Amino acid sequence: MRDFILNDTDRAFRTELAGFLERELLPRAPAIENDDDWNAVKAVVRALGEAGYLKLMFPDLYRGSLAISGAAPGLTHATMLSEEAAAINYAFETTIATALSCAYPLHRYATPEIRGRYLPGIVEGREIGAICVTEPGVGSDTSGMRTRITFDAARREWVINGFKRYISNASVADVYIVYGITDPDVPAGKGMSAVVVPAGTPGMSFPRRYTFTGRRGCIVGEVEFRDCRIPAENLLGEENAALRIMISMFNFERVILGGSGLGVARSAFDIATAHAQTREAFGQKLGCKQLIWDKIAEMSWRIDAAELITYRAAKLYDQGVAGKALMKPAAMAKLVSTETATFCADTTVQVLGGDGITKEYGRAEQIFRDARALPIVGGTTEMAKYLIASADLPTLKPNL
Ligand SMILES: Cc1cc2nc3c(=O)[nH]c(=O)nc-3n(C[C@H](O)[C@H](O)[C@H](O)COP(=O)(O)OP(=O)(O)OC[C@H]3O[C@@H](n4cnc5c(N)ncnc54)[C@H](O)[C@@H]3O)c2cc1C
Repeated sequence: MRDFILNDTDRAFRTELAGFLERELLPRAPAIENDDDWNAVKAVVRALGEAGYLKLMFPDLYRGSLAISGAAPGLTHATMLSEEAAAINYAFETTIATALSCAYPLHRYATPEIRGRYLPGIVEGREIGAICVTEPGVGSDTSGMRTRITFDAARREWVINGFKRYISNASVADVYIVYGITDPDVPAGKGMSAVVVPAGTPGMSFPRRYTFTGRRGCIVGEVEFRDCRIPAENLLGEENAALRIMISMFNFERVILGGSGLGVARSAFDIATAHAQTREAFGQKLGCKQLIWDKIAEMSWRIDAAELITYRAAKLYDQGVAGKALMKPAAMAKLVSTETATFCADTTVQVLGGDGITKEYGRAEQIFRDARALPIVGGTTEMAKYLIASADLPTLKPNL
């Protein structure tokens, strides 16, 4: 059995969720992939929000909306949402994963007023969130962040100047969490703050939208801030203390990405096993060949390992493990699941032969393109390895 780390409630929830996504997402997935149909993405986000699924991470909000039978709020079920959605369409899943990564710090660190203003729209699926960390000179190494956030005491406003790139949901989001430097005289980890910027704030613009290898239908682009002013109360947590917020947000996001990788890997595996059992070559089903067994077995054990590691991290979070203690299990979930996704996507193409790289014969080629982003987004495979090794070598400082 693949999912022994999960309990009966988890399994019942997964069944119900899969049925919901089959009704709401599956019929819209071709429009998302082929026509970049943002309205289709929004319609599914809205349906998920109305049904209560986007509140899974937030037990206090979730109470009272227990329309979903068998749902126990927490990261385990939110990860399942990612997994099941990514199994149908990874591009769509990135939209909700990003929105939830925005909702998470809002829920935890915003003042009650700011939280009340911006969180309900996201978790009810009416609005979309975005996270702005990455810059042209800042990817894995966030210590080189150039975006400046200064405080105008006379007007009691924060003023943002900077340029962010690779921002998921850029230009279509309603709320942006923006990280920037508030104290340039200390290392970035001690001088970084995070603020909430609503869409439409003067001074914010979206110079460019990117075209990626895969992930058709989701929107990723640049966000520029030029003297962009927001009220003092839009600060998340304390001034200069956003590193903590970033660590907890990335922990959360990496477990969710474990679910994304798992969903993508599973969808590839299902195509490969179906093909191996139907396609004939040399007078036998393809799946009778030992070289094909090897590929099926390799995908199978990798998916099992990814599932165990991902849901271990999610369950640890649900048991109260947080901050530094969650960094290694979350990094492992992200690393193993996303590498499993690219392995399975590539192997499935090989099992299918020509059918694997043509649009006319199913989704293998789409999954192959989509999967490639997974070991890069939300912290690369290399960065995940640093996090894991630094927990294992506590007396050493990794040479980044
Ligand atoms: C589709 C997509 C969506 C994204 N969405 C968002 C978003 O919503 N918000 C946001 O803020 N960012 C987002 N990102 C940015 C993403 O987080 C970064 O791309 C990622 O962190 C890597 O940064 P980089 O691309 O600048 O690569 P770099 O950091 O320049 O790294 C390039 C390569 O070098 C490796 N490398 C770097 N340093 C070391 C080292 N010390 N040792 C060994 N290897 C190293 C990396 O692992 C990588 O393989 C998105 C990116 C993509 C592609």
